Amino acid sequence: DTNKTEAINALAQAVLAGERRALGRAITLVESRREDHRREAALLIEQLQPKTGRSIRIGMTGSPGAGKSTLIDTFGSNLTAAGHKVAVLAVDPTSTRTGGSILGDKTRMGRLAQDTNAFIRPSPTGGTLGGVAARTREAMLVCEAAGFDVIIVETVGVGQSETTVADMVDVFVALALPGSGDELQGLKKGVVEIADILAVNKAEGTNAPRAREAAGDLQSALRILGARPDGWVVPVLAISGLANEGLDELWQTINDFCKEGAKTGSLVARRHRQAVIWFHAILDERIRERVLAGFEDEITKLEEAVRGGGKSAAAAAEEAVSHLLR
Ligand code: GDP
Repeated sequence: DTNKTEAINALAQAVLAGERRALGRAITLVESRREDHRREAALLIEQLQPKTGRSIRIGMTGSPGAGKSTLIDTFGSNLTAAGHKVAVLAVDPTSTRTGGSILGDKTRMGRLAQDTNAFIRPSPTGGTLGGVAARTREAMLVCEAAGFDVIIVETVGVGQSETTVADMVDVFVALALPGSGDELQGLKKGVVEIADILAVNKAEGTNAPRAREAAGDLQSALRILGARPDGWVVPVLAISGLANEGLDELWQTINDFCKEGAKTGSLVARRHRQAVIWFHAILDERIRERVLAGFEDEITKLEEAVRGGGKSAAAAAEEAVSHLLR
């Protein structure tokens, strides 16, 4: 109806004007899973769309304790001091199950949380990983429309979350830890394969020799993977979020990657490919929700039968599908 449309128009204008409260409200709207909110959110995103896409989108991953929040706090503060506006978003796969999220928690990034040129948003909760990520991606677009020129999407290495985040950013940075041998310093092989930049964190002071060892191991792992189709040679940096060391080089390397990608066209191609991926992610979640709506109790019953061993998973799924799509 026209009232709703006018309210969305006003919200879009306020976001574009950089009003902080409007930004928060807009993101709450795109995160909502209510059917009517979804329609309003789609309208909002459509209006903001022309003003999106002008940020550097950075993904960051690392195992718990790798120093993500410390790094993002320092790195983000460096950037706001240099005149940038920085938004930090999070994709936390555990938030889909527990309904709670620790990533992107403001208390983990004390300095940035106080910074008027920064905006921190925890992971949306509930739904599938694809759904959570799709809502984070829309939050990213809202932040861009509000004038944020650096977006950092944080994720912890659980399940498919790294790939999912890599699919929404321009450049994907993976944090490793000093030392050698054990599981590539806390990085899964699959993460080494998709990272555009590797950084051995906590590399300050007495950790420096062990950081060099870790960097050496990672270089070997990269050599085994061979050349990338885009020609980019993945750098392995040594940084310290705590001591604010190597972070200028990290920023420079991120910019180098984006500049080279702009020159070869791989950045635009990446964004186009991602748009299609998100179309499918949103489509999948919407179909799932629409089809399952009203059948929650029956799904729960089947789930219990599977848990108790009374039904096989395959039989229960078959029963559900034939019932739902009758
Ligand atoms: P996250 O779980 O990846 O967000 O990691 P945190 O940022 O919470 O850091 C985990 C622990 O490592 C904390 O005790 C930090 O103080 C410590 N830490 C973080 N960054 C560094 C660093 O650059 N050097 C050192 N020595 N310790 C760090």
